[in-house]
Parts: sequence; C-alpha cells; structure tokens
Amino acid sequence: MAAWLQLYARALTDFFLPGRCVVCDTPLSLNEQYLCLHCEADFPLTRYALLEENPMAERYNAAIAAMDALQDGRIPPSPQPSPYEYAAALFFYDEQAGYSRIPQALKYDGRLRLGRHFAARLGAALSKSPLFADVDLIVPVPLHARRRFSRGYNQAGVIAREIARVMGECRNADAGAAGKPGAASPRVCDHLLRRIRSTHSQTALSGEEKRRNVSGAFGVNEGALAALGFRSPGALSPRHLLLVDDVFTSGSTLAACHQALRKILSSGVRISAATLAFVRQA
Ligand SMILES: [Zn+2]
Repeated sequence: MAAWLQLYARALTDFFLPGRCVVCDTPLSLNEQYLCLHCEADFPLTRYALLEENPMAERYNAAIAAMDALQDGRIPPSPQPSPYEYAAALFFYDEQAGYSRIPQALKYDGRLRLGRHFAARLGAALSKSPLFADVDLIVPVPLHARRRFSRGYNQAGVIAREIARVMGECRNADAGAAGKPGAASPRVCDHLLRRIRSTHSQTALSGEEKRRNVSGAFGVNEGALAALGFRSPGALSPRHLLLVDDVFTSGSTLAACHQALRKILSSGVRISAATLAFVRQA
C-alpha cells in the first residue's frame, strides 16, 4: 500500500513540477520539455533505427549466439542462415553528460510522463524506419513479480505501450495520406513473458556471469499465449516481434527473452529489440 502511495505522490510531482532539465537540472522555460535547449542540442541520438547493422544490433546478435552456446543442445538451433535481428535505441547512455538520468528518472523516481515522452520519441524514430515497418507485436521485458509489486509498474511496459501508440498513429497518418484505410497498430502483450526466477543485479558481473545469471530466467505465460491466438489452427502468428527494455547494456537479458520466445514462435518470426538508451561500453 505504501508503495502505491509513494508512486502516486511521485506521479503528482512529475505532473506539476516538470520544471527542471532532467539532465543538467537548470530551470526550464515554458517552451522546453524535460530537456533544456542546450541538452536538447547535445542529445546523443543513436539513429540506429535506420541502420540494419549497428553496434547495438551486433551486440544483441552476439548475445543471442552466446546464450544459445550456453544452453547447447537444449534449444533448437535458429534456422540457417541465422536471421540477423534488428536493434535500436533512442540515445546513448552517457553518464558523464548526464543523459543516463533519463532512464533512471523513469525507473527509480516514478517519472512516468517523462518516460512516455522519450518513449514516444523512440516510437517516432522506429516508425520512420522501413526495418520496423512490419512490427505487429510488442513485448516488454518483465520484472519479477516481487519487484513489480514494490515499484508499482514495469518501466519496460510503460515504454512498450507508448511505442505502440506512436507507431499506430504514424501508420494511420501514412495510410491516410496515401488514401488508404487505417493501418493496424502493433499489439502490446505485457504478460507474454514472465520472470521464472529473480536475477541478481547485472552491474558487477562479467559477460559470462551475466549470461549465466539470466539464462533460463524467463518463461512464456501460457495464458497470454492462448489469448493472442497462438496454437490454434489458422490463427495469425506475429510477423515481427519487438522486445522492449529501458537500457541496453550487455544484451544478455534481451537474449534470454529471445531464447524463451523462440520456443513458441515459428522460425520465420523476427525478434527485434528496442530500448531508450544504449550503453556504448558494456
Ligand atoms: Zn539541460
């Protein structure tokens, strides 16, 4: 109960006092939102959404391969040639310049409106890319139930829903401009994945330890699967699933989710990844 009250209080603060730059803490003028003009001008955008091959996609694909090797023999090998999965983040997680405060404010300070603002910008960037034009299902990385209860929300879910909303709007606007009927928005499935076990904080672990820490930590929620129409004859499978998280570091968490999802999806389904921020040096 206390957690909910705290969350409510923080949401109120977020609503009424958005008056300082989240990065450098200078007071904002009326035409600035969350970032002052200086921090906006220096905003380290990755522009990865437009690049099939980029450092984040390289790390994501390498993490998937490493995760498969870890569970050698237990996971059906990905079809050959192995699909190169897409990955994109809105901006670089720059601690020195303070841009790391954006995902932190969403995750630890309950600033959901701020999170939605930057998630909408990520959604717009993805919508402009032909790589993500056929995304039809968005799945946030789940929190363990205990952590979700104490935090009151899953930050990845907040981002996922905003991406879906903006993608839907952009597609409808494009369809309208072309004189076509409205396009379908991607669906969000909050509960398709679940954490089977709680994992330790990843920050102090080596690459191999990170993989072992999250390997097998995720499972598929059978109820959510049925609700989506899987495993029923003639039901539509997604063409392109987008996994969403707040920050991309080693890629181990997303690779573990990728592995869990592959057990239930047909081999032709692409599983891309999108996050608010990308850590250059994992
Ligand atoms: Zn600033």
